[in-house]
Amino acid sequence: MSTDVLIIGGGLHGLSAALQAARRGVSVQLVERHFVGRHASGATAAGVRTLGRNVAELPLSLEAAESWHHMKALVDDDCGFVACGQLQLAEDGEALAKIAKRIARLEAMGLHHERLVDADDVQSVLPGVSPHCVGGAFVSGDGSADPHRAIRAFRDAAKKAGVTIVEECLVTSLTRSAGHWRAETIRGIFEARLIVNAAGAWADHISVLAGDPLRHAIRTSMMVVTERVAPRIKPVVSSFGRRLSLKQTSQGTLLIGGGSQGKLAADRQSAAVDITALASSVQAAIRVFPELRGVRMVRTWAGMEAMTPDHIPVIGFSQKVEGLIHVFGFSGHGFQLVPSVGRVVADLICEGHTNHNLDAFRASRIAIERVAA
Ligand SMILES: Cc1cc2nc3c(=O)[nH]c(=O)nc-3n(C[C@H](O)[C@H](O)[C@H](O)COP(=O)(O)OP(=O)(O)OC[C@H]3O[C@@H](n4cnc5c(N)ncnc54)[C@H](O)[C@@H]3O)c2cc1C
Repeated sequence: MSTDVLIIGGGLHGLSAALQAARRGVSVQLVERHFVGRHASGATAAGVRTLGRNVAELPLSLEAAESWHHMKALVDDDCGFVACGQLQLAEDGEALAKIAKRIARLEAMGLHHERLVDADDVQSVLPGVSPHCVGGAFVSGDGSADPHRAIRAFRDAAKKAGVTIVEECLVTSLTRSAGHWRAETIRGIFEARLIVNAAGAWADHISVLAGDPLRHAIRTSMMVVTERVAPRIKPVVSSFGRRLSLKQTSQGTLLIGGGSQGKLAADRQSAAVDITALASSVQAAIRVFPELRGVRMVRTWAGMEAMTPDHIPVIGFSQKVEGLIHVFGFSGHGFQLVPSVGRVVADLICEGHTNHNLDAFRASRIAIERVAA
């Protein structure tokens, strides 16, 4: 099976890159160890957030924000995106001062997407919020989407563009000779000019197989879904410096997360819910929204994703091995970036370069040799 590009990993980042590269005429095969969306992309809270982003990510995030508003043009479905706004609460004066400083810094850079809001604004955007919330930051164009609709839409659009997707296809070895990669998988041999490492929590393993050993940690973020309650929360809510994200779905259920970490299995292949750690996010939700006390939890889960030391992804060509592109390490906030990062990876595949400056995302910052030195 020979192709221009072999993408390893059928999460949303692999699918987005595959789709956007195939539309530009290259032949793309994508291999996924389980089924598409099995890991972080299927476990995500699907918040679409430019709010509070690391400055290095903002150019990609702002481009992605634009795409989310026109998602149908990219994948023929809006992926359930709703621009319900994202509100970051300040639960005390110190948090508000830090938010104000961040917004002032963004404005000095000519970026005006975040708006500083006071306690009255918070009450009007989020009636019922605890009065101890003194203000915050609001982005009206942010929101959330439906992750499973997004996976289906990106998968179907990729197939329509000519991408071959092979599921239950674990990559077990990679070798390169005469400008070509040879990937051994449990479903046979694949050959390609370029390889894209979009293997999420297992990207370090792929990097070792490819001869560019990188090191990352694994996040095991947890989520809770509650029973349905009357509509009361419109924006996606977070709290500055706290482990909280809270939103209400169109069905009325509440989705509570915010980065509380589950338990990673010793073989690093799965993660289980740590109910004590999860309780801190649930308590944070009740603290900012006292009416939620007594609402019943119906389901919990933990998802797995690569996390880098600086919490921003690795995106770009390997500096060590030819014909290898890395795209992983989104550290808990890569869902929103799917359309723009896919576009950038497609640029790298098709043109060898892109208009975004990828210096902050270079792989060498997490190279094992460098970490050891
Ligand atoms: C609980 C949770 C909540 C989140 N909430 C948000 C949010 O609100 N907003 C936001 O922006 N982001 C959020 N994120 C982060 C976001 O979901 C991820 O950044 C994004 O989904 C990562 O996509 P991916 O394609 O890089 O990884 P994944 O979806 O994990 O895909 C990687 C794939 O590679 C496959 N693979 C690995 N090794 C191999 C191999 N050897 N051979 C073949 N296939 C292989 C895996 O099986 C996996 O399916 C959240 C994540 C979690 C877990």
